[in-house]
Amino acid sequence: MEKREQLYAGKAKSVFATDDPDRLVLLFRDDTSAFDGTKIERLARKGAVNNRFNAFIMEQLANVGIPTHYERLISNTESVVKRLAMLPLECVVRNIAAGSLCRRLGVEEGRDLQPPTFELFLKNDALHDPMVNDSLAVTFGWASAAQLSRMRELSYAVNEALKPLFAGGGLLLVDYKLEFGRFRGEILVGDEFTPDGCRVWDAETRKKLDKDRFRQGLGEVVEGYEEVARRLGIPAQ
Ligand code: C5P
Repeated sequence: MEKREQLYAGKAKSVFATDDPDRLVLLFRDDTSAFDGTKIERLARKGAVNNRFNAFIMEQLANVGIPTHYERLISNTESVVKRLAMLPLECVVRNIAAGSLCRRLGVEEGRDLQPPTFELFLKNDALHDPMVNDSLAVTFGWASAAQLSRMRELSYAVNEALKPLFAGGGLLLVDYKLEFGRFRGEILVGDEFTPDGCRVWDAETRKKLDKDRFRQGLGEVVEGYEEVARRLGIPAQ
C-alpha cells in the first residue's frame, strides 16, 4: 500500500490518501491543542505515544467485537485505517464528573456518575462544539435515529471493555470522547482513542495523567501519557 497526498490536517493528526480508495494513513503529530485550538504547543514524543496507544486500544475493542476503523501500524507515528464517512458528532461517556460537565451543571469534580452518562456534541470549532441531542441530530441530518442508537450502544460497550482494562493498571477511566463513521453500511469507531481525548486518573491519588495536564498547565504532559501506556502494558517503541 502506498501513501499518497495529504487530504486533511487536523489539530493533532494529519490524514493521507493511499492507493487504496478505502484506506487512509493517519499521522499522529506532536502538536497539542486545547480550547478550540487557541492553545497550541508541540510536545516531543506525543505523536509516537498516541499512535501506539490508539493501536492498542483499538485492538482491544476489536477483540471484544467493537468494530473500529483501525487496521495496522506502519511507522512510529502512522497507522492505516479504513476510510469512513464521518458523522459530525462527538459522543462522550463519563464515569466520573470532570471538565465541561462540572462547568455546565455545577457538579463537583470527582463525583461518581452512576449510571455512566452519555452526551452528544456537534463537531464544530466555530460554534465551540455545542451540546446537541438526538432530536436535533435527526432533524439536521447529522445522523439517523438508528445510527444514534448504534453509536450510544457502541459508546457504552467501549466503557465495559476499557474500564476494567484501566482498572487493571491502577487507573480510573474518568471520561472519553468517541467519533463514529460509516463504512459499507456499518457504523465503526473512527478517529482515535488516546489521552488527548479521554481523562485518566491514578486510582489511588487521582493524579491526572491525560490532556488536562496540558489544559491546566500542570506540566509533564507526555510523561503522563507514557505512564498510562506503561501501566496498560503498551510496549514502548
Ligand atoms: O470537555 P469535556 O469535559 O466535555 O470533555 C469530555 C471528554 O471528551 C474529555 O475526555 C475530553 O478530552 C474529550 N473531548 C475531546 N474533544 C473535544 C471535546 C472533549 O476529546 N472536542
